[in-house]
Order: sequence, then C-alpha cells, then structure tokens
Amino acid sequence: MHLMIQYSDDGATDVPTSEAPLPPGLYIVATPIGNLGDLSPRAASVLSRAGSIAVEDSRVTAKLLQRIGVKRSMTPYHDHNADKVRPGLIAKMASQAVALVSDAGTPLISDPGYKLVRDARAAGIAVTTIPGPCAAIAALTLAGLPTDRFLFLGFLPAKEKARAESIAEVAAVRATLILYESGPRLGATLRALVTGLGDRDAAVVREISKTYEEAVTTSLSELAERYANAGPKGEIVIVVGPPGEAPVTTQADADALLREALKNLPTAKAAGAVAKATGLDRRELYARAMALKDDL
Ligand code: SAM
Repeated sequence: MHLMIQYSDDGATDVPTSEAPLPPGLYIVATPIGNLGDLSPRAASVLSRAGSIAVEDSRVTAKLLQRIGVKRSMTPYHDHNADKVRPGLIAKMASQAVALVSDAGTPLISDPGYKLVRDARAAGIAVTTIPGPCAAIAALTLAGLPTDRFLFLGFLPAKEKARAESIAEVAAVRATLILYESGPRLGATLRALVTGLGDRDAAVVREISKTYEEAVTTSLSELAERYANAGPKGEIVIVVGPPGEAPVTTQADADALLREALKNLPTAKAAGAVAKATGLDRRELYARAMALKDDL
C-alpha cells in the first residue's frame, strides 16, 4: 500500500491521504504521551481509516483526532463500563476495523484493554498492534540505570500497608523497577521505597516529551528528601536500580529500617521486609523488632 503523509511546519503529522479501508479486526494504537509529533504515521493512518475507535475519554481523543483532521465515531471504553461495552465491541470487530486508544501512550499499560484483546482473540478476531510511546520504556531510556532486566509495577497501592507489602514482594528481585506515580504521592512512595528496598540508585523522570522534561538520577534516599514536602508538577515515572551486592548494613541502619517498617507492618512482616532489603537474618531481625516495638 502506498501511503502519503503530509507534515505541518512544526513536524506534527497531518492527515494521511490513503483512503483504503482497513480489514476488520482490533487495532491497538499507541498515541503520544505529551508531544503530538510522536504520533506515528501508521497510527494516524489507522485512526483515519478505522470504522470506529474505542476510547478511554472521548474529550481527550477528540483533541488528537482534531489535530490530524479525522472525524470518527468513538465508543467510550474504560474501567467503569468495560464489562458492559466489550461484547458489543467484539461483535463490531467481525465486520469493521475497531481501533483502541487510551488517553496517552500504549493502551493496556496501566490502562484498559487487556480483556478486550483476550476476548477478541478468543472470538477469532484479527488483532494488530501499532506500537509507539510508552512512559515506562521512555523513562527507562532516560534514567541511566540498568536496562537488561526490568520489572514494571504500574501504580503501587495508595494505602500505606498495602504499598509496603507490594514493595516487600519485589525487594529481592534482581531487576530495575519501574513505577508510575503522581506528584502528590511521590514523597510518600519514595520514603516507602527506601524503607522496603534499602537505599539504591534511582531516578524520578517526569514530563517526558514535554517542555519541562526532566530526569533526576541519584540515590533513593536523596530523592525522598528532595521531594519530601512538595511533589513536582506533571506526570512522573520512578525508576529504581536493582539491589547491589549484599550491602553492609550496620545495627543502627537495621534498627532505623525496622522502626520505619513497624509503622506500617506487623512485626513478622516488618522483619521480613527488612531481611529482604538488607540480606540480614530474618529471625534475628524479628527478635530485634520485638524489642524495638515496645519503644515505639
Ligand atoms: N498507557 C500509558 C503509557 O503507555 O505510558 C500510561 C497510562 S497511566 C494511566 C498514566 C501514568 O503514566 C501517569 O500517571 C505517569 O505516571 C505516566 N506518564 C504518562 N505520560 C507521562 C509523561 N509524559 N511523563 C512521565 N510520565 C508519564
């Protein structure tokens, strides 16, 4: 297929001129995470040729479509209506190209869509992906931390106890961790990460592909201090480097970590979390935690 794309002065993609209809199926379309110039020509082409578009928020996608001069019928598909809307969308895909977009970035990545893909595949529908921006991967490329093994955690739970448990679960994983977070919760999350993981190299990456894009790479404890009182504006990804070779932890360090963990966790779990973060003996830490608990 020959597809002509026109570019406007600022480099953003204008309307693809191909009118060829798309075969029926589901098209997962990644959209920009800030800079509209990051919409790929192929993504613009699919959006302009799809029969309809399943969207997270029609107001957000309407702006993108307006930017590329496309008018299309949109079906809201989000966490609150997904179960109700999904069967109708699957039925539509049998005779029509249905594109799936989220508000920003790659659908399904901390965004709705996985069940739509699951059910489409089960129904024998052709599923195609149009890859593109994803904040997790973009942050990993900016952080300057190891990229050979990484684990994406999405958003951690908002509640302290559940958050501490989620962090304890991954403390021993020898991989770089990638998390999404919002400005107001950044300080608390960084503190919880120091408690649960011990100090590590880490980065706060924000506003990727926008005017104030920034990546600050230092230690987790320095980041926790830097953002203790005021989270920065904008959209944020936290990247945490893998654990180092068994760090030397003093008794005072262990006590401080135990005291912090005991604020959110029962004694055994606090000892377990600190054991994972430091490599120290869990039973000894439990005994110490029992002693410290009385002083709290
Ligand atoms: N599906 C999207 C993706 O592919 O990255 C992620 C959607 S998730 C609901 C939104 C979160 O992604 C934000 O709260 C933020 O943590 C992160 N994010 C999105 N855009 C970003 C950007 N431009 N810079 C930094 N983080 C971003």
